[in-house]
Amino acid sequence: MNQEKKILPEELFYTSKNGFDLLSGEELKKVEAYCESYKSFLDNSKTERLCNLRCIRLAEEKGFVPYREGMDLKPGDRIYYDNRGKGLMLAIMGKKSLSEGANISVAHTDSPRYDIKPRPLYEDGEMAYLQTHPYGWAMGYQWVALPLAIHGVVIRADGTSVTVSIGEEEGEPQFIITDLLPHLGREHKKKLLGDAYPSHVMSVLVGSRPLEGLEEGRRFKGNILAALYEKYGIVEEDLISAELEMVPVGKARDIGFDRSLIAAYGHDDRVCVYAELAALFDQEVPEKTAVCLLADKEEVNSDGVTGMKSMDFEYFMGSLCRSQGVDLYGCYAKSLCISADVEAAYDPSYKEVFELQNVARVNHGVAVMKFTGSCGDKSDASDASAEVVGTVRRILNQGGVLWQLAMMGKPEAGGGGTVAKFMANRNIDTIDAGVPVLSMHAPFETVSKIDCYMTYRAISEVYRNHVD
Ligand code: MN
Ligand code: MN
Repeated sequence: MNQEKKILPEELFYTSKNGFDLLSGEELKKVEAYCESYKSFLDNSKTERLCNLRCIRLAEEKGFVPYREGMDLKPGDRIYYDNRGKGLMLAIMGKKSLSEGANISVAHTDSPRYDIKPRPLYEDGEMAYLQTHPYGWAMGYQWVALPLAIHGVVIRADGTSVTVSIGEEEGEPQFIITDLLPHLGREHKKKLLGDAYPSHVMSVLVGSRPLEGLEEGRRFKGNILAALYEKYGIVEEDLISAELEMVPVGKARDIGFDRSLIAAYGHDDRVCVYAELAALFDQEVPEKTAVCLLADKEEVNSDGVTGMKSMDFEYFMGSLCRSQGVDLYGCYAKSLCISADVEAAYDPSYKEVFELQNVARVNHGVAVMKFTGSCGDKSDASDASAEVVGTVRRILNQGGVLWQLAMMGKPEAGGGGTVAKFMANRNIDTIDAGVPVLSMHAPFETVSKIDCYMTYRAISEVYRNHVD
């Protein structure tokens, strides 16, 4: 085939580029401003419930109102629907009918952590402990000897709810899971990392002071129960109807002499949650209805009423479609979804698990993933079609977004999935894209500021849908 247009040799090649080589000083200022807002969001979003609450607050400030079935909606109207305080759907009604599809972005609000078991409290060695249960691939060896805060809710016998939050504010006590001293660790250090911290050593130390008047074997536990009763009016049985979560203490901090990175708990996946919110807030009256779905439970396979598989999304979208006399599944078939979840950033300290030509590099912008998956063979993957990748590629290039095509690592190294498949299974064209993260799932994860900003820019462009 004879190409009429002459091409320079350089234009024949594809390489991703480092944002510091491309962005102007003006753009880098926007990166900084965006990341300051993101850090503040993250500091107030330590659990999926707190994250959900923060998203609602920000949305209300931007003119979003609670959605009611049957409400009169016109283009530009901003609505949100709160699913049980742990899942959130937001939309800005577009100029076009939902029969033409919607532009959707999804992300997850939950992060790896240690949950408190339903019957958690015990004493041993004249100290009191709460038993924990790992949530979402938290690696025990990373969570010991680290200051922890507790957040959550307890439902009392009479049905009233009490919010628990201790450890974040200056002057408040914190909690800790103790570790074995290396002096006595001759056998311990020979264990495999994944086996060295079984759940029975992951109990949280919560006190060491006895309650006067109680017999041996109950007095340390009893003192904690007395303290909980005094502070919250709860008794031991109330802990059965509770959701309490242990998370690392500490705010998001800049990293490096040059402050180019951010370390914090919960970048996975609140960094994408915030990017989607900020992108949605940017839209005025979009051509197509802009929808954002923020779900819980991704780290445990997205099941349950607030997970990405929940029919609550069908309720919300179905209700919007009905208001326009449109078939829900017809709308799905013409929609585009960006499933924004974090990606493994290339870490030169662990070169062996990465395949250099397909890695996501820090500061090279939002990582677009054609597929995720595990077992080395794309099992459980949502594999976006060449056509969908082509569409997104055009949108991002036309919008001047810094982006890179990436894969998680070598197929034989492991792998991981995300929520894209649950959207794709709904017959919605879906592609993965998100922020590359160093030490993903560790109590403090690290991301680049440029990549955070470019993920927001990417989603903003998708909502704007510049494809001609
Ligand atoms: Mn994730
Ligand atoms: Mn994760």
